[in-house]
Amino acid sequence: MTDWVELEKKYYMQTIVRIPLTIVRGEGARVWDDKGREYLDFVGGLAVDSLGHCHPVIVKALEEQARTLIQTSNWYYTVPQVRLAQLLVENSCLDRVFIGNSGLEANEGAIKLARRYGHLKLKGAYEVITMMGSFHGRSLALTAASGQPKMHEPYLPMPAGFVNVANNDIEAVKSATTDRTCAVMMELVQGETGVNMPDKDYPKKVREWCDRKGLLLILDEVQTGIGRLGTLFGYQLYGIEPDIMTLAKGLGGGIPIGAVLAKERAAVFAPGDHNSTFGGNPVTSAAACAVLKYFIDNDVVSRVKKTGQYLMAKLRELKQKHGFITEVRGAGLLVAVEFNAEIGQKVLMACLEKGLLVNRVKPNAIRLVPPLIIGNEDVDRAVSVLEEVFSGIAG
Ligand SMILES: *Cc1c(COP(=O)(O)O)cnc(C)c1O
Repeated sequence: MTDWVELEKKYYMQTIVRIPLTIVRGEGARVWDDKGREYLDFVGGLAVDSLGHCHPVIVKALEEQARTLIQTSNWYYTVPQVRLAQLLVENSCLDRVFIGNSGLEANEGAIKLARRYGHLKLKGAYEVITMMGSFHGRSLALTAASGQPKMHEPYLPMPAGFVNVANNDIEAVKSATTDRTCAVMMELVQGETGVNMPDKDYPKKVREWCDRKGLLLILDEVQTGIGRLGTLFGYQLYGIEPDIMTLAKGLGGGIPIGAVLAKERAAVFAPGDHNSTFGGNPVTSAAACAVLKYFIDNDVVSRVKKTGQYLMAKLRELKQKHGFITEVRGAGLLVAVEFNAEIGQKVLMACLEKGLLVNRVKPNAIRLVPPLIIGNEDVDRAVSVLEEVFSGIAG
């Protein structure tokens, strides 16, 4: 039998710390490894496989579009791209869309758009204020935007134009604002650094400050968008509207796609300002259309809200039983369990052994981001594995 782990060591750049598991097949919330063993998947491609693995509506959209037209150039109009833009606008508070291929590309587009806005409307202002603990992507600009010094250090010097300020601290945003500032960029829930929930009124305070100063508010909804928090977009949960919003992870249900959306007044790109070879490709756009239509036609977000509440309640019961669990937090199906010691990896490996995939989001916390179509019986199974694992750790 081929040892894929050994082959990867030989041929792939050694830049990812992987879990020793080779996944070869998936269906719904289940995946199988190369030895035929089944796992319940509460990682879901890291908040990507919104409809689970190989959902029939995605497979059908891909098959049909692959037989019809795979790629043209953005010099031409294509039907799936326009349909996707229309669907996104009709179901959000934003007015215009540009489609790329990843979260990174969506966020780059958002920052370029904010800079164009600064040049045209804010006397050349170009700086973007971002939060400590944020994650916005791995291009050089987005590494600088991400408020994590350990991401910056290997690649210094950082591109100019980003100011990282303390999270959840409106005074920090205010004192970082100068006549160079064109936008504030934030995640509503910081996903990659621990499912860090904002103080309840923080997003509103940032919105008010941006309004007062004429700055753009960019919401990075790459992880929170498309139902993850139990609302189609995270901004709906916090009662604010962004000027610019980015989407990616859940949008394609596993197909690489990202989008930057903007209000009309912020959509200041002129012809020639921005483009992408593969962005809004017919196949990826057709898949995202199928995902969005499925979400809307089947009211998936209501289901996420209910299943998420059920999961949180079950996890809080576990917290009652096990003193080393310090916090259970999250919204919808973006959830973290934090411990009083750095046992995240140990918990992950013990879960893996028992057929459950979870993500270690911090040394002392795991994150659960299952497909959004799971039901209470999947939650029960996951929680019973966690219960066994926690009992083993306690004992
Ligand atoms: C994952 C993520 C990104 C980066 O997306 P990629 O597709 O990996 O480039 C950006 N922002 C947030 C909030 C994310 O969760």
